[in-house]
Amino acid sequence: MDRFSDAAGFETLAIHAGQEPDPATGAVVPPIYQVSTYKQDGIGGLRGGYEYSRSGNPTRTALEECLAAIEGGTRGLAFASGLAAEDTLLRTICKPGDHVLIPGDAYGGTYRLFAKVLEPWGVAFDPVPLSDIGAVRAALRPETVAIWVETPTNPLLGVADIAALAQVAHGAGALLVVDNTFASPYLQQPLALGADVVVHSTTKYLGGHSDVVGGALVVADGSLGEQLTFHQNAMGAIAGPFDAWLTLRGIKTLGVRMERHSANAAAIVDMLVRHPRVAEVRYPGLPGHPGYDVAAKQMRAFGGMVSFRLAEGEEAAVRVCEKTELFTLGESLGGVESLIEHPGRMTHASAAGSPLEVPPDLVRLSVGIEDLDDLMRDLERALA
Ligand SMILES: *Cc1c(COP(=O)(O)O)cnc(C)c1O
Repeated sequence: MDRFSDAAGFETLAIHAGQEPDPATGAVVPPIYQVSTYKQDGIGGLRGGYEYSRSGNPTRTALEECLAAIEGGTRGLAFASGLAAEDTLLRTICKPGDHVLIPGDAYGGTYRLFAKVLEPWGVAFDPVPLSDIGAVRAALRPETVAIWVETPTNPLLGVADIAALAQVAHGAGALLVVDNTFASPYLQQPLALGADVVVHSTTKYLGGHSDVVGGALVVADGSLGEQLTFHQNAMGAIAGPFDAWLTLRGIKTLGVRMERHSANAAAIVDMLVRHPRVAEVRYPGLPGHPGYDVAAKQMRAFGGMVSFRLAEGEEAAVRVCEKTELFTLGESLGGVESLIEHPGRMTHASAAGSPLEVPPDLVRLSVGIEDLDDLMRDLERALA
């Protein structure tokens, strides 16, 4: 029925998977089915399999099928936010008494979910440096049910070896979960490397235009997919039809956007490493980065996220963030427009005083797809 084969390339899937022309009208883009309920032809007589939009909605189905296709999974699920996806996943795969390993530099919201919601519920967790396989093995417990991976990490751009960690997790009878938000499925395919579940904040690169908050899960295993679908409906943190439509629209250009994000970021990194006011640049594509070899092996390109530290410390970092004009001062990432922020006082302020506290002199860039010359000029002026 689909106009492309299972062997179709990434960008063909991104544009077409789950999105056959509407049978009723021929519309080439799935309509926004802004509807809560569906007429039944006699009790239980469902026309398209839909009865109530928490359980299923055609626009969301289109997105979920597309997500599954572009991550190479058997099932995709779309949620109201990245954290809603994480919460639904964790309350499906964990029960009180279980234990999870998380990255030593996990996204602050993921850390807060574990520390303030999961732990009081009875799930223990330990942050570990995921680039150190020996440390990961040593931190496993008999009750460890999952290793939670982010690669590259937010905001320190740490890199973890997905294939190696999948072996460690499976050897311990645990699942490997990969938050693929920073790389996006265009740059990195965790399920093909052995991961069991991929998590996304679709708010970021998948949506790509800073106009929607959403989350996703994609799984390899059909029975875990069934359980998650049951919990998605039972817990109810679904993506609405318009949000699903915006995300689908964003995904169509993911490949070309990621190429440009990566190229712009690489050029900016090249400028930053030579800059006298910059003490350190963190980017997985820098040959001096400790995770460079792993990143080069498992990523198609190195992405649009860059962090750097100011030689003169925290106040200098704050001033740079406040001086750029084209790089907009703001949280979030992954949109077409460039953003700058100070993680210590903004996105990662909630990690202050925790093991996940970030360096105070750190600046994070989400490099957009504007003209490189304009981005360079803006940053060079802010650093002057
Ligand atoms: C933003 C983000 C999340 C959380 O997603 P929301 O859509 O904001 O709920 C999770 N993981 C990473 C890596 C993120 O950057």
